[in-house]
Amino acid sequence: MNKRKFFLLPICLLLLGACNSNSSSPESKADAKSSEPEVSSVEDVSSQEEVSSQEEVSSSEEISSEPHTHVYGEWQVTMIATCTEKGEETRYCECGASETREVDALGHKWDAGEMTTRPTGATEGVTTYTCERCHVTKTEPIAKVDGYTITFNQGEHFKVYVYNTQDYANETPTETNSCKAKDKYGNVVEYDPADALDQPQINFKVVCDEGYSVGINDVAIVGADGTTKKGDLYKNFKQGPNETEGLPDDEHYRITKIQRSLNITITPINGEQKIPEVTFINNHCSVIVYKSATISDENIVTDEHFYARDKTSGEIVQTGGQIYFKVVPETGYVWNNGVTGDTDVKDLPFCAQNSENSGNKFKPLGDGVYNVTKVNDDLSILINCIPEGGEAGLGYEVTFVTEHCTVLIYQTQDYQFTPTAPTDNKAITRTSKGDAAQYVAAGDGVAEVKPQINFLIVLEEGYTVAKANIVITGDYNKLEQGNATLNPNIWKITKIKSNLTVTITAVAAA
Ligand SMILES: [Zn+2]
Ligand SMILES: [Zn+2]
Repeated sequence: MNKRKFFLLPICLLLLGACNSNSSSPESKADAKSSEPEVSSVEDVSSQEEVSSQEEVSSSEEISSEPHTHVYGEWQVTMIATCTEKGEETRYCECGASETREVDALGHKWDAGEMTTRPTGATEGVTTYTCERCHVTKTEPIAKVDGYTITFNQGEHFKVYVYNTQDYANETPTETNSCKAKDKYGNVVEYDPADALDQPQINFKVVCDEGYSVGINDVAIVGADGTTKKGDLYKNFKQGPNETEGLPDDEHYRITKIQRSLNITITPINGEQKIPEVTFINNHCSVIVYKSATISDENIVTDEHFYARDKTSGEIVQTGGQIYFKVVPETGYVWNNGVTGDTDVKDLPFCAQNSENSGNKFKPLGDGVYNVTKVNDDLSILINCIPEGGEAGLGYEVTFVTEHCTVLIYQTQDYQFTPTAPTDNKAITRTSKGDAAQYVAAGDGVAEVKPQINFLIVLEEGYTVAKANIVITGDYNKLEQGNATLNPNIWKITKIKSNLTVTITAVAAA
């Protein structure tokens, strides 16, 4: 308090000085002029009123000898209010007179608060708020949490044992079909996006009857509220053995960063688990597969079949395995897959996944070497190399004109891979294997080249399309469904011998 007053003292003196000098404002100059005749009237002593007014003025201020109504300036802060203590404002008249008034204490300015103690199922949490001005803190309790209930289906041929913590070595798990998600120390907690906190997880063991087995693909996880999108359910689902995660064997599982109550359905298979296999479909290239992350001639896989392996030991594994491979295009060909950084396998049209667990990330490692992580199910990779310098002019151009629908184009006749949108509704003709090609008739020692186009019609809601709705101009042999079982809207135009225009007019469904 004293310090604040002391600090403001020079400001007060400055203001007083300004008032006495009568120098700066036009107002004060006018005052000085009007005082001259009145001074002479004092000498006359002609008016009682003037005498009395003169006495009044002189008694208050030496510098002015006239009647005076104070004219105050703006309020000035003369003592700063704090969160808890009142302040003071002062305004001054040019004559030096002043008035003061109190300013209310400001009250604390609380920040958004921070959870300083996390609530659990057993104890309340604490939110601590800090005043942004004076850094005083206050706390508020956070109610205990209910946590998330994890329910295992009551199936046959297996039993579920749940751990309270992550300590498999020292804890005996309990056989149960329902439990709460807990942090790794055994506290019932709810998900909080702040990474520093221990998130809810579930650690469990599945023990099958003799002759039965369970793998990561035999465990289906959905939200108790019907949510199915993995990212809204949990972060990771891991099966052992996994040294890094401390999962001792393939009976042990952990689901991390659980975000809601879950229903887990386990369906054991009768027999051994299948080892995830990786199939390459090569067009104008060969592929070299490595046993592990070590890219060397000594580490090449020589088997006909390729399996996901441990990235360090190179051993074939049932879950969490990886595949390292190098693409070697034929002379004059390149693989333009467009992938420049780590990409989710499921977003790549040339990776066909058997399940959501088929692979996690597709990573270009340079020098034609690639890696797919976390291969937990069969995975196919289409490596369609194209001539160096591009494919322009190698195929006929097919122009699509569509109404109430769009088209997506397949690179080959293998419809397990995801089709992609054509550029400006134009695509080029290819052989069934994916080579951009124009028609070549069979000749002496020359095989017939039969260009085709494979496409998927994506309909607007409420619309349908039949063969009669697809009108083609140009030279071709046949329009037919590509794979009616897989999708009746997959179509194929075969033995194309010229540029085509394909007009597809979807019609309102009956
Ligand atoms: Zn005054
Ligand atoms: Zn404060």
